[in-house]
Amino acid sequence: MLTQAPRGTKDVLPQESYRWQYLESRMRQAAAEAGYREIRTPVFEHTELFLRGVGDTTDIVQKEMYTFKDKGDRSITLKPEGTAGAVRLFLESNLYADPLPAKMYYLSAPVFRYEAPQAGRLREHHQFGLECFGAREATADAELILLAYRLLSSLGIRNLSVNINSIGCPECRPRYNAALKDFLHAHESELCADCRSRMDRNPLRVLDCKNPHCQEVVKDAPQLLDWLDDGCRAHFEELKACLSAMDVPFAVNPKIVRGLDYYTRTVFELITHTKDGNLTVCGGGRYDHLVQELGGPDIPAVGFGMGVERVLMLLQQEGIELPQPRLYDVFVTYMGENRLHAFRLVQALREAGIRADMDHCARSLKAQFKFANKQHAAICATIGDDEAAASSARLKFMAEGQEETVAWKDCPERIRAYLNTITE
Ligand code: ATP
Ligand code: MG
Repeated sequence: MLTQAPRGTKDVLPQESYRWQYLESRMRQAAAEAGYREIRTPVFEHTELFLRGVGDTTDIVQKEMYTFKDKGDRSITLKPEGTAGAVRLFLESNLYADPLPAKMYYLSAPVFRYEAPQAGRLREHHQFGLECFGAREATADAELILLAYRLLSSLGIRNLSVNINSIGCPECRPRYNAALKDFLHAHESELCADCRSRMDRNPLRVLDCKNPHCQEVVKDAPQLLDWLDDGCRAHFEELKACLSAMDVPFAVNPKIVRGLDYYTRTVFELITHTKDGNLTVCGGGRYDHLVQELGGPDIPAVGFGMGVERVLMLLQQEGIELPQPRLYDVFVTYMGENRLHAFRLVQALREAGIRADMDHCARSLKAQFKFANKQHAAICATIGDDEAAASSARLKFMAEGQEETVAWKDCPERIRAYLNTITE
């Protein structure tokens, strides 16, 4: 128990954190290219924010939230998604008074959902999310889809399909919902228990039920796309035109409805087809009324969330190696009583921006070399009595095995020159 992480959580080990860091740097780069700046919001918020912001008919609110009373008797919830917190920040800091759109992103933000753990499904996972406030035009939706698509494909992920849909707005969706409910009631006996219980509260969710019987039933259900009003239809056409103009292969998928209540118009998912089935890596959409719903002005918005663990899992499954930085450029080895000289050389190298270390475990010289080798140090710098007397070190370039003696003061320059000739 004591040495076991809670179910559905995952450690990041020292030898794998470079994969996160590399992916995060690519995500930052992609966001920055499109004018999105980072935000950081607390890991927990008032429960009320999610009840109002995510919607109390959703799976997340009904089944998945980590909610507890704090010592001040306030109801607190660990963030089950990123958008509600971003809207809260946007309102609390009056960012709507600045020129819009306000574009922001969060990176590797922890998200908590009480779900049945399985491959790609954790109880704590991390999301890279972008939110764009104040942009009504479909170009904003399209740039987000494009950003996610380009990011994932440039990392080497193949078999990626972009699924888009429009779920209309509070004008046209109620008319559709009524028609859908009529249809579902007529087929009630063929639906699963979950769908029977949610078909009145949230009929759209029946459309993306994974149960094969339900899928069979909804094949003939009325299609929301046929019920869109003129504004929603024009917006959707514009989105498709933008994606086509950029040669993004996309499919209109009327089954994509997303789990959250707040979406309007555009919804989308980026899905990969793996040998274990389909996996959604990124999901998002437009939420034109959420800001107002949470007490703010009438400001439209659009965003997405991408699961960091899922991207890393896909990269691993596809055998895509990410660049791994070298742990040590130089390992300083020493003989006899020269520990303090070694210590000073290590510090001097670090000050020069070189990754350096020495033995801290009282190893013999032979064992120090063995350790350096195991850690793939590019160079060993040895200080014996002769070198100490001459204020120098014996450099050994590990790949070539070649050696030379260099004065301490010249070490940083010589080492850097060598490092420039090899790859990480
Ligand atoms: P799913 O249909 O797989 O449950 P979702 O619709 O609940 O996904 P979103 O709320 O859209 O997911 O979250 C955005 C992204 O976060 C997902 O596309 C996925 O990559 C990732 N994600 C969601 N839930 C989990 C989880 N439990 N574990 C790991 N990643 C997750
Ligand atoms: Mg889910």
